[in-house]
Amino acid sequence: MTSPSRVAIIAGNWKMYYGPRRASSFASEIVPELGLLVYQNPQILSILCPPAISLAPVREVMDAHLFQNIELGAQNMYFEEKGAFTGEISPTMVRELCTTVILGHSERRTYFGETDELVNKKALSALQHRLRPIVCIGEHLEQYEAGKTEEVIRFQVQHSLANFPAAYVKEVVIAYEPIWAIGTGKAATAEGAGIVIQLIRQLYGEMYGGEASSALRILYGGSVTPDNISEFMAHPDIDGALVGGASIKLDFVEIVRKTIEVMQQ
Ligand code: PEP
Repeated sequence: MTSPSRVAIIAGNWKMYYGPRRASSFASEIVPELGLLVYQNPQILSILCPPAISLAPVREVMDAHLFQNIELGAQNMYFEEKGAFTGEISPTMVRELCTTVILGHSERRTYFGETDELVNKKALSALQHRLRPIVCIGEHLEQYEAGKTEEVIRFQVQHSLANFPAAYVKEVVIAYEPIWAIGTGKAATAEGAGIVIQLIRQLYGEMYGGEASSALRILYGGSVTPDNISEFMAHPDIDGALVGGASIKLDFVEIVRKTIEVMQQ
């Protein structure tokens, strides 16, 4: 279970599912229930991350319910504020509706060629615009099998999370998502994820000091379901989860409910 000094995060990455109409009806289904759960348990923050085109209708549903501790996040953004960048959305645009932005998801790294350098620019820009970045890192199956997880994670932390001004270092959230566990139904074990998460915290501490690394929230992501969330949340080093497939179903509410149960033990 996360340290009492850190508010746990359960974030749902809807990926490229649910356009504006469907997103609005799904949000209307889950927001009242989710909102009540997290309202009664302020040690948990729940963040919904629909596709960019569906952010506004989901925002409307959230505003109609006025719950705290349930927030909206984008799945990506560009680092520039404005300009001739067709198809992109800027941090100021995201900030109009959201508190949070997912950056460097492995699907963006794999299919859209995002590098650690680009992810780093985006994370810095997010922080400068008062957005909470959830920066995703994680190793491929071949790297995992070759025993290279530590090497890959070290490189990603040192490059994706470089050069943050001291004022922002406590705002960052990292999602450790082993790529072999994303969308495969083969989640890591809490013990295995915990070892990598401890390494990430140690590396962050080497870069930004002990206070920053104690404040840093590190989520696990990869085939999280209502059946395995309790195991992850019971681990002392895991501060929450980034949920993909299960976040576009009522399972997401169940995941939040089970997280609360663990935190109340
Ligand atoms: C994700 O999209 O970040 C993710 C972890 O997906 P899934 O939960 O479906 O593995």
